[in-house]
Amino acid sequence: MQDNGTCKYDNILGTVGNTPIVRLTKLAPPHVNLFAKIEAFNPMGSVKDRLALGIIEDAERRGTLSPGQTVIEATSGNTGIGLAMVCAVKGYPLVVTMAENFSVERRRMMRFLGAKVVLTPASLKGSGMLAKAVELANAHGWFLCRQFDNEANADMHSRTTAPEILTAFEGERLDYFVTGYGTGGTLKGVARVLKAQRPDTNIVVCEPDNSPILGSGIAQARDADGTPSESHPSFRPHLMQGWSPDFIPKLTEDAVAMKLVDRILPINGADAVRLARELAQREGIFVGISAGATLAGALQVCASAPDGATVLCMLPDTGERYLSTPLFEGVAAEMSAEEMEISRSTPGARFDAPPPAPPATKSASPVPAPAVSAEVEAFVAQVLADREQPLVMFALEWCEFCWSLRKLFAQCGIPYRSVDLDSTAYQRDDRGGQIRAVLTARTGSKTIPQVFVGGEYIGGCTETLDAFREGRLQDLFRDHGVGFDENVRIDPYTLLPGWLHPR
Ligand code: PMP
Repeated sequence: MQDNGTCKYDNILGTVGNTPIVRLTKLAPPHVNLFAKIEAFNPMGSVKDRLALGIIEDAERRGTLSPGQTVIEATSGNTGIGLAMVCAVKGYPLVVTMAENFSVERRRMMRFLGAKVVLTPASLKGSGMLAKAVELANAHGWFLCRQFDNEANADMHSRTTAPEILTAFEGERLDYFVTGYGTGGTLKGVARVLKAQRPDTNIVVCEPDNSPILGSGIAQARDADGTPSESHPSFRPHLMQGWSPDFIPKLTEDAVAMKLVDRILPINGADAVRLARELAQREGIFVGISAGATLAGALQVCASAPDGATVLCMLPDTGERYLSTPLFEGVAAEMSAEEMEISRSTPGARFDAPPPAPPATKSASPVPAPAVSAEVEAFVAQVLADREQPLVMFALEWCEFCWSLRKLFAQCGIPYRSVDLDSTAYQRDDRGGQIRAVLTARTGSKTIPQVFVGGEYIGGCTETLDAFREGRLQDLFRDHGVGFDENVRIDPYTLLPGWLHPR
């Protein structure tokens, strides 16, 4: 965790923790000091990076995780993303089980980091994805992280989060520490240190108001081995992803049993979303729904706190993880009437008017086509006549329309030759430009991509997609003996760049 002040690390894992504590100047009532600990500063953007590193390094020390062994965990996302980072660095394969209703950006991030994500039905809730992880771990001999009851989770917070807070408030008041709970790792790990070292600090725990599993006072039913045996009767689905699963986690239960919790606060989902937005728009702090929810709890605390009190709340993760959730509901991708008006206030680059004519200058002349060598002429002719590879695309590496065609060819399972004119392979003597000149002379088209089957020019991106839609492309593949997956049924227009799709 230490960087000795140089900000130079042996690997990314050294950047976990040491997150900043920032004063909220606009959202705090004037009579209190309100601070937020912003866990989005962790390398993968959430508090769970701490737990991931803590659990894996603890298992390494104990020898319960051996080199190259597969790691598995049930997670609503942030733990999986943190584990995916840790496992990538340390070389462990990772399998994550996750209920299908958590935001899709989370799954895609884990897969991007190299993890396998096994979805479980939303109807089986958090305990269903947990049961699946246990089943897979037992069946395959994988290392199960057990974030909900693994002491290494709480220990990591006692070793990192809590001392960071103690240092930040050394010699100052710290009247309230406000947090939610997902596993209770933050709660148990921080609260026990604060209770010992700063007994004057009140520990406040927040949970969704429609799902008061702690507030109800009803104990969690458990099997003999401590595993929750059924959903808690007070659990209801709620908006705060990462908070309160459908059972009371062991670490959370411990914190209550150890009398670390002074107050349990119910939080309204709409308040959580509103405050996450206000944090962004008024404080410039971009965080997720559970952060808005924790702030809602902190503001309730502030309202009844004495003058000059200091309140610290945890903000568990970044807002970027919520683009497909209610947090971004109503945040448009298209221009609003007000934005259109700004656009129309000057003449350039508008959608509603033709661009102004460029000023006429006598010297304006088109860029001359490069002189084409006989070798390049022969190269194009040879590529187009190649019977081994009848499908040829002249493309640009950066071009999104070329990528649309690449996706189509990949989905059809069809091999093709891509001549990427802007790649280093065609830079010498402007061979890319020369090939383009040869193509223009042949097809009359100046644009790229240009697609050919068996030497026959199909067209650019749209023409190729149309030819596929109408079955002409498939006929040509058959004519030229090109095998492809005949069962693929897609609307090829869905492969166009996302920004072209009508919304
Ligand atoms: N918020 C979010 C978004 C989370 O992912 C989590 C962890 N699941 C938490 C809050 C709660 O953290 P902890 O597990 O330490 O209780």
